[in-house]
Amino acid sequence: MLTLPTTKVQDIIFDAFSLTNDGVAIFDANDIVIYCNDSMAKLFNDTAEQALNKTFSELIKQCFNNTEGLNIESDDIEVWLQAADHKRRSAPFRSFETDTQDGRWHLVTEQLVCDDILYFHSTDITDKKHTEMQLQALTKELHTRATTDELTVISNRRNFYDMAEIEFTKAQQKQPLLTLVVIDIDNFKVINDSFGHAAGDMVLKAFAQNIKSELRSGDIFGRLGGDEFAILLPNTDCNESLPLVERFRDTIATMKIDHKEQRIQLTASIGIVQYLPVMQSIHDMMNAADTALYQAKSEGRNTVCRCSIKQVESATAPSMISYTY
Ligand code: GH3
Ligand code: MG
Repeated sequence: MLTLPTTKVQDIIFDAFSLTNDGVAIFDANDIVIYCNDSMAKLFNDTAEQALNKTFSELIKQCFNNTEGLNIESDDIEVWLQAADHKRRSAPFRSFETDTQDGRWHLVTEQLVCDDILYFHSTDITDKKHTEMQLQALTKELHTRATTDELTVISNRRNFYDMAEIEFTKAQQKQPLLTLVVIDIDNFKVINDSFGHAAGDMVLKAFAQNIKSELRSGDIFGRLGGDEFAILLPNTDCNESLPLVERFRDTIATMKIDHKEQRIQLTASIGIVQYLPVMQSIHDMMNAADTALYQAKSEGRNTVCRCSIKQVESATAPSMISYTY
């Protein structure tokens, strides 16, 4: 191994520090700067000479007061410094990411060396951070696209089923009160044919927004496809759900949708079913609700039809309880 005199090694290290784009500062046990290179001084909007002999809190306060250098996200600098003091020197080695007022990002490491001397190092990671933020935004966008129905901006079929499966499992394990409601707009084809496809789209959007405004937090709403929608009502049995479903029906019938000075009038047929232990999966529940919906259509539409417990349990021919308006 090649050995050099200590002073020569120091010269090499300080020469390297003065040339690197990485920021380097050394704080003594009282948190006073005993060394700072130009790259680090820039983070505090100082020159290396100006930063020398300042305390950490003085450097931070000048960033805060002048809104320059490090971005100090706080309304109260004393509170911020207290929190920083608590973390600083709390471990032999710490690292964190921080940003500056000019939009750059830095990976900062703090290392305790030689009796409470703090070696403070920063590396510019702006490019990496921007790529990471773009990826995060893209992932969020992809997730939204994968789970949202583009037209109505409510859950799409797949996301509805994913969430419904979670609620179904909860019902099986500990919370058996669960009601499923399926709603299909009556004679929607006639609306498309009479007013055009774009007006049909407008109706679907208005329909979804109106129903959404009636829901409680925790209710799960999705578009299954075309003009068919589903709502899952956790902690609700069929009897409790009836006033809610009646409200949905009323909301639909009284929706004011105007198209080229003509009012589009809607009704919908609704099938409801509550969870029963005999059901093996959310698909059993959906099939029962679909049967009730089919019954509501065949009874003349604008009707709420409920799958009776007996019918679900025996899985026999329909014996529905229906409410026609
Ligand atoms: P029913 O009373 O039996 O439900 O009859 P319906 O006319 O509503 O017929 P059905 O529910 O079977 O058909 C729904 C129609 O919705 C068929 C399709 O042309 C139309 N549709 C499906 N998706 C869209 C869409 O995104 N926009 C528009 N405007 N129409 C759609
Ligand atoms: Mg329909």
